Amino acid sequence: MDILKTKADMQAWSADKKRQGKTISFVPTMGYLHKGHVSLLDIGRPLSDELVLSIFVNPTQFSPDEDLDAYPSNTANDLDLAQKAGVTAVFLPDKSQMYGPDYQTHVFLDHLPQYLCGRSRPVHFGGVATVVTKLFNIVMPDVAIFGKKDFQQLAIIRQMVKDLDFNIRIIGGEIIREEDGLAMSSRNAYLTTAQRASAVCLSRAISLLKQRVAQGVRSVPDLVREMETFILSFDHTRVDYIEVCHPRTLEPVEIIQAETLVALAVQVGKSRLIDNALIGPS
Ligand code: AMP
Repeated sequence: MDILKTKADMQAWSADKKRQGKTISFVPTMGYLHKGHVSLLDIGRPLSDELVLSIFVNPTQFSPDEDLDAYPSNTANDLDLAQKAGVTAVFLPDKSQMYGPDYQTHVFLDHLPQYLCGRSRPVHFGGVATVVTKLFNIVMPDVAIFGKKDFQQLAIIRQMVKDLDFNIRIIGGEIIREEDGLAMSSRNAYLTTAQRASAVCLSRAISLLKQRVAQGVRSVPDLVREMETFILSFDHTRVDYIEVCHPRTLEPVEIIQAETLVALAVQVGKSRLIDNALIGPS
């Protein structure tokens, strides 16, 4: 497994593979890998000759009041997991590699970032779209795999790839969960034991919604109110949003008629946790 720390080395590595006629699968991450990340590597490995993982905690997707400085890191363990998952190259740049002092170009989308997480994290998706554009130009993958846990991010990347004509196939990986249903996340590391117990409220609230929909409830305001009351019955929770929306445009819906996305963000202690599911009337 090669470890590349500069853009020039990563680009040269990928160019060399391409000259040899090899294809590249790519999984971008912020590190502190867990089984969710590994599942994306498992999807990518059989699809191409080479499998590239990037680890970069991208500062431009955090606002000043967020957890950039506290973001967990364990590079030794990440490299161990990467090796076991069959990664052939790890791109491990530092901030100065990605953003020089005269950096001034950013990628923004018009509509998709206005919903869900974009409302409480206004700078987030501009930072994501910019860094993913840069990573695509550096790694030059044929296929890139993103988790459906960050459903809005995946939608934004798909739109950006289409709009900006990247010749890259985007694949969404299913959400990997702990046994009790909590979606795996690097940010789960911030949870105290008591907060960890409360963190199941997100997946359970989704289950509650699915149950109500199966019983015939279709009114989104009623469903959201019930989910919110349920979540607030857990200690240490604050609801950021619960939205039921169109799975492609992310526009809110009032009545569940067709396949619909339910997405939510809940602050549990210091961790802002997200989860989502596609639902449809049976
Ligand atoms: P992150 O390191 O949090 O930026 O995530 C890197 C990639 O892993 C993103 O595409 C995430 O959507 C994906 N990911 C994170 N958690 C999970 C999970 N529990 N299941 C599947 N994919 C995930």
